[in-house]
Amino acid sequence: MGSNEQNYINEAFRTNWIAPLGPNVTGFEDAIEKYLENEVYVAALSSGTAAIHLGLKILGVGAGDTVLCQSFTFSASANPILYLGAHPIFVDSEQETWNISPQLLEEAVQQSIQRGKKPKAIIAVHLYGMPYKVHEIHAIGQKYSIPILEDSAEALGSSWEGRKCGTFGDIAILSFNGNKIITTSGGGALVSANKAYSDKAVFLATQARDHAAHYQHSEIGHNYRMSNILAGIGRGQMEVLEDRVAARRRNYDYYMEHLQNLEGISFIPELEGMFSNRWLSCILTPSYGAREQIRLALENENIESRPLWKPMHLQPVFEKEIHFSDGTSEDLFSRGLCLPSGSNLISDDLDRIIEIIRSVVI
Ligand SMILES: *Cc1c(COP(=O)(O)O)cnc(C)c1O
Repeated sequence: MGSNEQNYINEAFRTNWIAPLGPNVTGFEDAIEKYLENEVYVAALSSGTAAIHLGLKILGVGAGDTVLCQSFTFSASANPILYLGAHPIFVDSEQETWNISPQLLEEAVQQSIQRGKKPKAIIAVHLYGMPYKVHEIHAIGQKYSIPILEDSAEALGSSWEGRKCGTFGDIAILSFNGNKIITTSGGGALVSANKAYSDKAVFLATQARDHAAHYQHSEIGHNYRMSNILAGIGRGQMEVLEDRVAARRRNYDYYMEHLQNLEGISFIPELEGMFSNRWLSCILTPSYGAREQIRLALENENIESRPLWKPMHLQPVFEKEIHFSDGTSEDLFSRGLCLPSGSNLISDDLDRIIEIIRSVVI
């Protein structure tokens, strides 16, 4: 936590705004809108997953539809497709940003159209804070008139050509879960330049209540709005977001400086015009065996590290879904490792981690 979160919470208690609306919710939304700098409207919600669920619904996804989705991601990117009775078509990554491959995406779109079923949306993810290839991916969305849901859950503070992640999609989503770069313990947001979309998100998130003195409903709603208490934490967190980004980038630079000369260890550089918040510091090792050797050596010293996300097209739960893959994310999953990346790591911590890795690799 930063220094002001408790003050915003105390204010909520003092004024008795203990509800899923109130000054902190509005203040948090305003702070995000201001930070994103791009004339967008923000609806604060109970989670990033809820934001994806509502986003897909607003983009018209329903039972029997298909949605193209980056395979190399956390399951929450894809689960809401199934909540709506639709089916994902998973698309593999390219090697430069580790995000959705423009070539495979276009192939998937064309094959879907040939089979007589155009996908209703594309879910593209800025994984680990690294922007996806915005230009190429959005050109495909435009060419085939398929809206893009931008999963920016891990990329608040990242940007592409000077423009903040979270402002590119027809709808974008953010997450404030406990593990993200800033947190409200649990929370998320739906972002859009289209005010009708963010208004619709608030409407659906508050049980879809029609304008009437009594309770009247013409649509099925959800209870997905953010609490005014948690939004107070969010307001305080927005004040330290830039510090958090700087801390995460410092971790990454330090690891890179001390590990990049090791045989077989590689990092993922930012392409021209890309700025990553470096939410997690990830390395690639030469093989699955080398990856496990490092992971277990760290575990021996009570230091947690984790393999990269297991691709969705390899998950048992999505076994029956269609996928377009060329082995890229499978390879990343087998050789990659997320190193400890907290904003509060000090250089003694990092030195300890680096020393253990060096002792295994050399
Ligand atoms: C965390 C995360 C989500 C889901 O956000 P929650 O707030 O945890 O529901 C979605 N997509 C990605 C890529 C994430 O990392």
